[in-house]
Amino acid sequence: MAYTVAIIGRPNVGKSTLFNRLAGRRLALVDDLPGLTRDRKETQIRINRRDVVLTDTAGLEDAEPGSIAARMREQSEQAIAESDLILFVIDARAELTSVDRGIADLVRSSGKPFILVANKSESRASDAGYYGSYELGLGEPLPVSAEHNMGLGDLMAEVTNRLDEIATARGDEPEPEDDELTEEQARARPLKLAIAGRPNAGKSTLVNALLGEERMITGPEAGLTRDAIAADFQWRGRKVRLYDTAGLRRKARINVRSETLAVGDALRAIRFAEIVVLLLDAQSPLDKQDLTIADLVEREGRGLVFAVNKWDLVPEPQAYLAELRKSAERILPQLAGAPLVPVSAISGRGLDKVMDAAFKVNEAWNKRISTAALNRWFATALDKHQPPAVAGRRLKLRYITQSNARPPTFIVFSSRPEALPDSYLRYLVNDLKKSFGLGPSPVRLHVRKTN
Ligand code: GDP
Ligand code: GDP
Repeated sequence: MAYTVAIIGRPNVGKSTLFNRLAGRRLALVDDLPGLTRDRKETQIRINRRDVVLTDTAGLEDAEPGSIAARMREQSEQAIAESDLILFVIDARAELTSVDRGIADLVRSSGKPFILVANKSESRASDAGYYGSYELGLGEPLPVSAEHNMGLGDLMAEVTNRLDEIATARGDEPEPEDDELTEEQARARPLKLAIAGRPNAGKSTLVNALLGEERMITGPEAGLTRDAIAADFQWRGRKVRLYDTAGLRRKARINVRSETLAVGDALRAIRFAEIVVLLLDAQSPLDKQDLTIADLVEREGRGLVFAVNKWDLVPEPQAYLAELRKSAERILPQLAGAPLVPVSAISGRGLDKVMDAAFKVNEAWNKRISTAALNRWFATALDKHQPPAVAGRRLKLRYITQSNARPPTFIVFSSRPEALPDSYLRYLVNDLKKSFGLGPSPVRLHVRKTN
């Protein structure tokens, strides 16, 4: 299960700066997506082998001056209600304000676990606010400087402790990291699945059909319960963890907002999931949003299944399927191996094929190939189709190794990596996919220099 950690505090105390620090490199992508950060910033991080959703309440620059306090209160209340752990940030360089006190009351009365963070603590000038903050009656503040990168290790350690306590209370075990798993453990793990697609593709209908009950969606309050983030279920005896997107949780709200949000929602779920079912609408498949989501899945290195929904409305299914397969390969050549499966979420027809495809992609996605087998293949592949000569010299490729699974990632060593044409790399990837059954998964191939 994922945990939600909310950063709250009045404007200007440094919440965004702290959010960016804690979010690290993943943030860039979040910021790339217009519409995602409108009312709240949200990103996924791993803390001590746990999935954590980190949220930051948005700035209130656009609020009427007189209404800031009220909106602040409303936003903080909401963030507190949706969080498992609160990071309440104050400005150590400033006197406490009535807004700080108001938020402190909310934190206290919520009864939720919290950490009082005194930001901007990098200098003596900070002492006043730091000691002043004891007045809030929330115990000892933890001094940090988000801007100068000080005290963040201590803060992370404290967050880790708190999450451990919360997890113990709930009886959650932390998940092992991938490289700590034996193969058997890997097989016993749930398939982490997300259903993405543009509004009205039929995601909610599909999710309900999979879960067999109306458990996940309905009503705006559903989004407020932490359990709505993921749902565990069994499919033909195999464990599946279905990651919800805010699009499903807050369905009522989503439909009236900009369509870019669908992409933001997809991104959230994609980050947590391993395999993504991209649900297309058979009546307008592969539209712009579909392509954007497919591209995100590919960039994030997740496994992809195209499911074409509302198949019950297609008059000539055979011909249409062939046509769709062709268009998908033409428009998204980088995803050529991804299965494309017709489904009717409303009748449940094709559901089993979608799930079979997801498990198949997952298997390829997790595959590790022995170095010996890999190099045997490599010799044959080079033989079949020699690397080109550049400026009169034949390019030499020395050997290949698999550096990672999930998705399968390989490194080829060459004397002149820069001279190796993309077309040759594509040949290698395609042959690798064919030879080892990696087709349904994305495969990464890097070239490194060697002498
Ligand atoms: P938010 O409104 O709470 O999200 O605050 P911001 O993150 O936008 O920061 C408000 C201002 O405080 C910006 O000018 C930041 O550069 C500054 N700031 C943030 N963290 C620190 C810090 O640790 N020390 C100092 N001196 N300034 C900081
Ligand atoms: P979401 O916005 O992606 O969650 O889409 P919904 O699940 O709310 O479905 C959007 C509309 O498509 C609803 O009117 C559904 O009844 C309809 N729908 C969903 N699946 C199917 C299907 O397999 N066949 C048909 N004909 N309609 C469907």
